[in-house]
Amino acid sequence: MQMRIGGTDVASMDDTWIRVTNPATGEEIDRIPSGSSDDVARAVEAAEAASGAWKKKSMRDRGLILFHAAGKVREQHKDLARLLTREQGKPLRESVDEVRGFANILEFYAGISASQQGDLIRLGASGDALVAREPLGICGAIIPWNMPVLIMGWKIGPALLAGNTMVLKPASTAPLTNIRFAQILETSGLPGGVLNIVTGSGEVVGEALVKHPLIRKISFTGNCATGQRIRELATAHLKDLTLELGGSDPMIVMGDADIDKAVEGALRGRFYNAGQTCTAVKRLFVHDTIAAVFTEKLKRRIEALKVGNGLDAGIEMGPLNSPAQRERITQIVDATRDAGEGTILVGGSVLNDAPFDRGLFYRPTLIADVAPEGRLMNEEVFGPVLPVMPVPDLDTAIREANRTRYGLGASIWTNNLHTAKRAFDEVNAGIVWVNRHLTVPPEVPFGGMNESGIGRENGLHALDNYSRTKTLFLNW
Ligand code: NDP
Repeated sequence: MQMRIGGTDVASMDDTWIRVTNPATGEEIDRIPSGSSDDVARAVEAAEAASGAWKKKSMRDRGLILFHAAGKVREQHKDLARLLTREQGKPLRESVDEVRGFANILEFYAGISASQQGDLIRLGASGDALVAREPLGICGAIIPWNMPVLIMGWKIGPALLAGNTMVLKPASTAPLTNIRFAQILETSGLPGGVLNIVTGSGEVVGEALVKHPLIRKISFTGNCATGQRIRELATAHLKDLTLELGGSDPMIVMGDADIDKAVEGALRGRFYNAGQTCTAVKRLFVHDTIAAVFTEKLKRRIEALKVGNGLDAGIEMGPLNSPAQRERITQIVDATRDAGEGTILVGGSVLNDAPFDRGLFYRPTLIADVAPEGRLMNEEVFGPVLPVMPVPDLDTAIREANRTRYGLGASIWTNNLHTAKRAFDEVNAGIVWVNRHLTVPPEVPFGGMNESGIGRENGLHALDNYSRTKTLFLNW
């Protein structure tokens, strides 16, 4: 597949290519251009050229284009989901969820388009102030490989509705569906140049985007170290930033919780997308009174998980997305075992005997007796590995939940309202679920505290993050 600049398919000016492979089989699916800073400059020129006319359209007209695109995505969801599974690895039904989630986001922003024009402030004898919502200009989006479709939606939905144009860099291991979505938007009426896709490495294309003086905002999702680097580069031109940098979400299960429901919550919360989700359940705290029963039930459910090629029927967990990802997981589990910082109850190693030998599979893993200060309980573990720790009371659970430098999501499982309220008040997280985990509908603001990031995606908050106000003061 080619890049998409100014509404047309283009190769890189350097004519070099990156292979995109299926992580379940190792087969090459396609190639993408390995872009350069010149390609970024071309894309910015196209975004600049499209900017004036796009900004002049009414917000309602922009919303209608998003709405038409959502309809086409729904019509083509099966093909799009297959492509996503082939490049990313997740089970087909998760890809279907994600593709539909993209359509939901576009429909949400289309739906609010008529009501987000601005404000009139009446100042009595002093006159009136009209506060208009204005786009920022050209925005840069840098997308990760774990949820490439949903995260593309989180960025383009509010950015395009607000009247910005964009240059988007997909992840090099999962860029194909992003390019297809750009084409769909264009066949739905999005003028060429409003959304441009430049493929290539993070170090070259990503950094060229962040450094380009005409790009007013960068929205990035990915790892903390990359986010930190982007923040440093972006300060040179005082760019606006949204950074979503992952987390180490705690799930707290109290003694009065519905155990079976919580077991299913932990299973889905951790092993969905093979654990490669920013708000996955990454640390599990279970009250002493139910810890043994809960852990045994969860262990049995994990042992029964059906792992395999996401395209095959009934598969519940696919491979990891890249060799680097599997290496990271292997390394942290081995280090935990070697340091005596946990007991492996299930899994704990790569899955590479036939028929898994050509893919990047890792066994779903449950680890008990974990050391609170160990790496597993303090770093973001982005794979199918779940540490479980018994806790004697809510105070301890909250203290442990707040141990890491992150603060993205958290969940409390209880039937007691006061317990839930305390968790909401005291756990450091941008979102606290009660008796569920993971779900983030388009209308709910999403983002973290502490080192989990800056800014919010989704909802009206994201629209604010992609616009600025401009005031007309009228002294009648
Ligand atoms: P990265 O942050 O490196 O990648 C995310 C995106 O950033 C990709 O598009 C990547 O491009 C791009 N990128 C990489 N380096 C730069 C740079 N210097 N400047 C601008 N853009 C850049 O994440 P990894 O893929 O390395 O994943 C590592 C870890 O990060 C995971 O194990 C996980 O812990 C965390 N992570 C968290 C995510 C979340 O949702 N919170 C998502 C992804 C990762 P390219 O693909 O070309 O390298």
